[in-house]
Amino acid sequence: MLEFKNVSLVYPNGHHALKNINLKINEGEFVVIVGMSGAGKSSLIRSINRMVTPTEGELLLDEQNILSFKEKKLRELRTKVGMVFQSYNLVKRMSVLRNVLAGRLGYTGTIRSILGLFPQEDLQMAMNNLQRVGIEEKAYVRADELSGGQQQRVSIARVLTQQPKVILADEPVASLDPPTSHKVMKDLKRVSREDKLTTIVNLHFIDMAQEYADRIIGLRDGEVVFDGPIEDVTEETFEQIYGRPIKEDDLLGGDDD
Ligand code: ADP
Repeated sequence: MLEFKNVSLVYPNGHHALKNINLKINEGEFVVIVGMSGAGKSSLIRSINRMVTPTEGELLLDEQNILSFKEKKLRELRTKVGMVFQSYNLVKRMSVLRNVLAGRLGYTGTIRSILGLFPQEDLQMAMNNLQRVGIEEKAYVRADELSGGQQQRVSIARVLTQQPKVILADEPVASLDPPTSHKVMKDLKRVSREDKLTTIVNLHFIDMAQEYADRIIGLRDGEVVFDGPIEDVTEETFEQIYGRPIKEDDLLGGDDD
């Protein structure tokens, strides 16, 4: 479904962030990308919605090379590929519901959306997705009145309301405490399973990666140094990815369930 073919990315300053990446990601997989800070995780994930554009190779989504996409095709791509950010990216002064409805912007005309004229089905879908992440009672509250964990749930409800095929999540729990991080990851995994979405998540903590991933991709210095199912991951795998033995700091710990 998603295929990287000899993908490389050199930033304008000459930094070689991705080096000849070859990967195939299947429909419905929940993939976690791990690696040290600077390994290229964000660059890899952001290539898939063209927030960054690789400078070599092909990146195929449903057999189309998205690296050649412009304008209309690019807008369609960003509707098909949703994103969850570390910092939630909500419009703080708007209600939770309006933030979730923003997931429909790729489908609703600009004028209609400015006027807040969303079809009834969209409203229902937005409310339903808030319910799925357990915060429907917050629908009419301003987004910035919510806790970090609740804000990230709003952003998950927003991405679901976008009805994407692929969800990208760039360090989605890096700003949250350990118990909240686990709860948010559980929600993300559950809803992505329920909707059969392909999900690609960057995570800093290796114990979290092991707990939630079906498959782990290890990146080091812009190269894939491990790619396999969670059963194949050993302590040595992480040494290979991190280039050193695992330390306490690499673990989040604290799943309280
Ligand atoms: P990670 O997500 O694993 O921390 P990134 O993909 O953010 O890694 O970055 C990989 C490397 O590319 C880092 O060395 C980073 O400094 C560099 N980099 C990221 N974005 C840019 C940019 N826009 N211009 C130049 N270098 C960049």
